[in-house]
Amino acid sequence: MINIALDGPAGSGKSTIAKAISKELNILYLDTGAMYRACGLYAYNLGVDTKDEQAVNNIIDGVKISVKYVGGAQRTYLDGVDVSEKIRENHISMMASNISAHQKVREKLVELQREIASGTDCVLDGRDIGTHVLPNARYKFYVTASLEERAKRRFLELTMKGQVVDADALKKEIAERDYNDSHRKFAPLRQADDAILLDTSNMSVDEVVNFVLEHINKGE
Ligand code: C5P
Repeated sequence: MINIALDGPAGSGKSTIAKAISKELNILYLDTGAMYRACGLYAYNLGVDTKDEQAVNNIIDGVKISVKYVGGAQRTYLDGVDVSEKIRENHISMMASNISAHQKVREKLVELQREIASGTDCVLDGRDIGTHVLPNARYKFYVTASLEERAKRRFLELTMKGQVVDADALKKEIAERDYNDSHRKFAPLRQADDAILLDTSNMSVDEVVNFVLEHINKGE
């Protein structure tokens, strides 16, 4: 069984790498961030403050998130509605980070993630895959890059999609999300003890993908 855990901070290139690897190895890719984003969108639609744990706990049982694979690509659904594009809007990023700090939210989504990953060759990307969701994953990588580089990549990604973003504000927001994600009490962002650290600041996507594939092909 091939289970690959890719963790790291926002904008480190995890999802680009995970997509390439899943294609190359013909295995399932689960973008777990999309699920937290869908939860953030759910709270936003209901006018609930994502930082208010009690208010979030009151609504979380009602959230229905699912994923499907269309032409090999993950589509994410909220209450049966495809929200795959909507959840990429930049204002949803901070809501995802806020809502992901609450234990009840994480328990619910982690259960779903384990269910999707069970018995299947897969690559999952997120913040707590190697430490919490799949602690026994065969391969674990912690992908990071400098804040400058990550902010630059995210800026390019968003502007290419036609979103209007302020580069300085985006950099601040990424730093804030990193702080939130690594300081929450429950399953914070952290490199697993047995994960390989990959600083991609000066690496191309191909270099990173090749590094990961070589590693897996060697069965290390
Ligand atoms: O990876 P992405 O930027 O789409 O994730 C959005 C947010 O979801 C992150 O900032 C993080 O707070 C949260 N997240 C998480 N655990 C995961 C994946 C994402 O807490 N496994």
